[in-house]
Amino acid sequence: MIKAVVGANWGDEGKGKLTDVFAKESDIVVRYQGGNNAGHTIINSYGKFALHMLPSGVFYSHITNVIGNGVALNIPAFIKELRELEERQVPKPNIIVSDRVQIVMSYHVDFDKYEEERLGKGAFGSTKSGIAPFYSDKYAKVGFQVSELFDEQWLSDKLDRILPAKNTLLVHLYGKEALKKEDIMAELIQYRDLIAPYVHDTLKFFQTALDEHKVVLLEGQLGALRDPDFGIYPYSTSSSTLSFYGPIGAGLPRSIDEIWAVTKAYSSSVGAGPFVTEIHDLEEAQILRSKGGDAGEYGATTGRPRRMGYFDAVATRYGCQVQGATHVCMTNLDVLGYLDEIKICVAYEVDGKRREHFPNITRLAYSVPIYETMKGWNCDISHVRNYEDLPSEAKAYVDRCEALIGVQIALVSNGPNREQIMSRKK
Ligand code: GDP
Repeated sequence: MIKAVVGANWGDEGKGKLTDVFAKESDIVVRYQGGNNAGHTIINSYGKFALHMLPSGVFYSHITNVIGNGVALNIPAFIKELRELEERQVPKPNIIVSDRVQIVMSYHVDFDKYEEERLGKGAFGSTKSGIAPFYSDKYAKVGFQVSELFDEQWLSDKLDRILPAKNTLLVHLYGKEALKKEDIMAELIQYRDLIAPYVHDTLKFFQTALDEHKVVLLEGQLGALRDPDFGIYPYSTSSSTLSFYGPIGAGLPRSIDEIWAVTKAYSSSVGAGPFVTEIHDLEEAQILRSKGGDAGEYGATTGRPRRMGYFDAVATRYGCQVQGATHVCMTNLDVLGYLDEIKICVAYEVDGKRREHFPNITRLAYSVPIYETMKGWNCDISHVRNYEDLPSEAKAYVDRCEALIGVQIALVSNGPNREQIMSRKK
């Protein structure tokens, strides 16, 4: 049984919470793309954690956590997060790392920083974690796979090929110092020693696990609209955020049984790019941001305040379509309890015409939201445990969103904690 938890929007939808809820009944939790450029917030009996590099199953001793081949593995960040768990009394997690995963080098982080500096105002809002330079190198075939770390002659020959190109850019484009071969070699050796205890042939591991009918949870990072192909390129990330990339990035060549797309009951986005339902009134945005305060409306990785907006049914329907969603989990419904009226974006106006399909990037930039207004429920719903006990206005809001996005909203989350989740039976 393979389940995926993925984002229907721009990321930060609350996937970490859902993964944590599902993890209880899973045997294996896998990260299959991205790196430590985004984070999941998880609140459980050990406290509040922002995981960037580790899969969300690390709090359960029955789970094997896997870092799949599609991930951008930052080894120092990986080790640091493991140590933090240990310091906070979390039992040592079971974790394995694919021998085919590639490594984020310190120069990837530097190149990311230098390029954003060079672009100045035209920068893409990179988290400067080295992710774009990392994936460029992977596909340009000049990256380092974990398996390569164990052959020093191989590494030395490869560095002789790579460094002249890197140094030309460093010195002549960015005006920085050249990299020295012995420093990079030392970095690679250090990474090898740190990661060696975790390295596994994960493809083989999954073949056995599936033969034994284990439950596998694929944990997506960011959201559909940050996908390099179907997202708002170039304000996208550098690896596929879609569920269908999951089996490839995990090393699990099978089809997925359930695809859970997570969406918030409103919109939020960290980073640049068109955001049609953005609330531009600073005060209004700040109220929503602060109501979502417990929802951490500040990027889990960057601490940047998120851009806030109303629920965007056009973007979410599209996000669910490209994710191939079979189910939706709507999070943060509790946050809207302060509003008398709630707006939902039901279509866009582009070039004077009403459009219900999410447009391409150039048209998106000048799309204007068309809103419908619904009555708010105006009370705290965070204590409710049965969906049927929600105020009728809250249920009407969920019904309307579901009708607009066209996929069943099977779970509704009304608070950051594990128990604040309700199944919506019809
Ligand atoms: P992810 O990257 O998709 O896992 O999302 P983040 O962890 O970056 O952001 C989601 C935030 O919302 C976190 O701070 C969660 O603790 C919080 N959260 C998740 N579900 C709910 C919910 O239903 N209500 C509230 N108030 N907060 C929630």
